[in-house]
Amino acid sequence: MTFENSRSCAKTMDQDDPLGFFRDKFYYPKNDDKENVIYFSGNSLGIQPKSVRKYVEKELNVWERKGLLGQHGHWENFHERLIENTARLVGAQPSEVVVMNALTVNIHLLLVSFYQPNETRKKIIIEQGTFPSDQYAIKSQIKFHGLDPKDTLIELSPREGETTLRTKDILAAVRDINEELATVILGGVNYYTGQAFDMQSITKAGHKAGAFVGFDLAHGTGNLELNLHNWDVDFAAWCSYKYLCAGPGSPGGIFINKRHHDWTGPRLSGWWGHNKNTRFEMDPDFDPIQTAEGWQVSNAPVMGMAPLLAAMEIFDEAGMAAIRLKSEKLTGFLEYLIAENLPAVAIITPAKPEERGCQLSLVAPEGKNTFEKISRKGVVCDWRKPDVIRVAPHPLFNRYTEVYDFVELLEQSLSE
Ligand SMILES: *Cc1c(COP(=O)(O)O)cnc(C)c1O
Repeated sequence: MTFENSRSCAKTMDQDDPLGFFRDKFYYPKNDDKENVIYFSGNSLGIQPKSVRKYVEKELNVWERKGLLGQHGHWENFHERLIENTARLVGAQPSEVVVMNALTVNIHLLLVSFYQPNETRKKIIIEQGTFPSDQYAIKSQIKFHGLDPKDTLIELSPREGETTLRTKDILAAVRDINEELATVILGGVNYYTGQAFDMQSITKAGHKAGAFVGFDLAHGTGNLELNLHNWDVDFAAWCSYKYLCAGPGSPGGIFINKRHHDWTGPRLSGWWGHNKNTRFEMDPDFDPIQTAEGWQVSNAPVMGMAPLLAAMEIFDEAGMAAIRLKSEKLTGFLEYLIAENLPAVAIITPAKPEERGCQLSLVAPEGKNTFEKISRKGVVCDWRKPDVIRVAPHPLFNRYTEVYDFVELLEQSLSE
């Protein structure tokens, strides 16, 4: 891609952007003076699709008018409206996905099934510096089995002087641990560095070692083009309030490879995972649905799923291939402008597009101070200790001119 170091280049790219009209489908945040901010925090909380209200109101109206009568035929299968579009989003077969619960809860539910330590095989690989909630969940799972994380948790860290992991080092670690390895669970994209992992190669290596392989896709869904089925991943979980723009606390999703649908191993069960034909017969014995839905526990939170349905229709209309195409160009432009104009700013996110999503993690002089200055100038991004400013231009609602303006504001902040 060839860029020019000018606002007119940014403007031309905005005019030619085939996804440019999607911005109007969202309420774009403004600051106190009613000016648009530059919203680069879609990796933390996506902005509100304008269609959300209509979707929520519809369910409120059904509840208002019908009470319990809204359940049968309407809410009972509400989550099924999120199956086909979710499958397209993550590259799965429809039977392999379901929307349920929140992310960390789902990590627990999935690890109950896919982390089954025994005498010889008890180790679990994660990446060092993974999101704290994942660390708490995984360590508590280890302790739940009466084991000590000191003996079982393998945290992969970058080489001395490097900030991200090399794929070959991940694969070597998997090979080394080999018959002691129970499970690999990595972030599809690391929240701090923005590094995207080679999920296919890691899955292949994990399977060769005889382990289960899964991914936390909090920063992967709606950001990368995923192909979970073809990559042969065993399990995955994600949230929907980040890139997917489904609103604070909106329900997450899971992927369970078809291979595991006749699961008879450990699983924490509830009535919503029970055979739908006999669910309301209140049978005392659990007869699991033989799809990802078998991992459901409780009935679906319809009011939380309605905004997700609104958001998924937008993602489905655009399609992940087109979203990703724009994303690479938008983030590529940001990277280019930083290299051209801000020699003092380092980018720790990998330079290869296939090793990252839309986020760039920046290390700037006087990091925290600089972050506060750009925040005062109307940039919404975030600071993560020890030294990173995370910026994530979202391909469905951000513009090339915003990327340009952001770099200018950062330049001003550094020279003040
Ligand atoms: C955002 C995020 C979470 C948040 O977990 P919730 O259960 O949705 O609150 C967990 N893990 C990762 C990697 C995240 O990025």
